[in-house]
Amino acid sequence: MAEVVFMKPIPFFNLTRQYSAHKTEFDRAYRLVMKHGYFTLGPQVAAFESQLASYTGVKYGIGVGSGTDAITLALRAIGVRPGDEVIVPANAYPTMFAVALTGARIRLVDCKDDGNLDSNKLPDVLTTKTKAVVAVHLYGNPADIEGIAHVLKAKKSKAAILEDAAQAHGAEIQMTNDKWQMTNGTQKRKIKTPAWRRVGGIGDIGIFSFYPTKNVGAFGDGGLIVTNNEQTMLHLHRLRMYGEVERYKSIEISGVSRLDELQAAFLRVKLSHLEEWNKRRRAIAQTYIDELRNVGDIRFVSGDTPTSRSNYHLFVIRTASRDKLKNYLGDQGIGIGIHYPVPVHTTPAFRSLGYVAGDFPMAEKLSREVLSLPMFPELTREEVRRVIQAVRTFYTTAT
Ligand SMILES: *Cc1c(COP(=O)(O)O)cnc(C)c1O
Repeated sequence: MAEVVFMKPIPFFNLTRQYSAHKTEFDRAYRLVMKHGYFTLGPQVAAFESQLASYTGVKYGIGVGSGTDAITLALRAIGVRPGDEVIVPANAYPTMFAVALTGARIRLVDCKDDGNLDSNKLPDVLTTKTKAVVAVHLYGNPADIEGIAHVLKAKKSKAAILEDAAQAHGAEIQMTNDKWQMTNGTQKRKIKTPAWRRVGGIGDIGIFSFYPTKNVGAFGDGGLIVTNNEQTMLHLHRLRMYGEVERYKSIEISGVSRLDELQAAFLRVKLSHLEEWNKRRRAIAQTYIDELRNVGDIRFVSGDTPTSRSNYHLFVIRTASRDKLKNYLGDQGIGIGIHYPVPVHTTPAFRSLGYVAGDFPMAEKLSREVLSLPMFPELTREEVRRVIQAVRTFYTTAT
């Protein structure tokens, strides 16, 4: 009788392995906060804010309740008011909601095949009312910030660039020796020598999310805004709590969005491991690339370019047989993800924008073809090998 081999499922993502591997550090962080008895916007938050800011190469970090809040508040802090126009790439599902909450009028622009905003299409949507362009570093692939900055400059636009680095902790761009500078006056910086710079700190303002699955993820929710501008930083301190300049002295109306001490303490532990974890993700990505190149019609969406380094938040491939491959891998007990299955402009929530299916061909094509393979630092070599084997088997037998 043939031996029945029980194959353990391979998770798309798993956080308990990370906790087990670093239990002592996390437990120490927990006890420290409990002992202090200080639970929001305290010493752990302040320390984490300055650590992530300096990691990103900027002066100030402002911790808030989520990545979504970080986007909404960042836009408010750089002066986006209801009715102003904000440009957003058409496939950035979570980003859209955060931008819409400012009351701004969203103008979508299609993406390129790496999932990021196509700066060649930017002139089509840029107007004198454009207050900001949101450059989303989707999947951890750096967006073309310089390309966007060039278009803004050529069109004499004063629009600010907000970097949505929610998925891109530690991803890098090599800046060219080109004297472009941010144009909206909140931040002026001349780049003199080509240098690798971490995303989030390149545009006028940047945001990070600490949703649990992100490369730096909390055991809960959290977000952070980075900026070099002192006034913007002070404004964000008000915006995250009742518009207060000091306790009970409110000068504008705002809600509450705070980062808590426990999460900040855990996030400090995670930040200290980010480089080693990103290295491990990079090694897994390289194995996928080496072993799946020329398999079926697979193309890689995640990856580096000569001037950018992904943090491999997700490992995204494209295939015309996406739905079949998805079902096949599911049957094999392999966890997969789809980011994102629905073009956000076709959802009922954004019907009022007036867009219809067909308006953003690349974003729509990607929504039908993308598939994310398991990717997290604690994925074992054996698991990676099994994922590769299953994908290869699919193309040799199931298609
Ligand atoms: C996760 C994410 C957000 C939202 O962050 P939350 O912390 O979940 O609110 C925004 N933009 C992008 C690109 C994201 O991936």
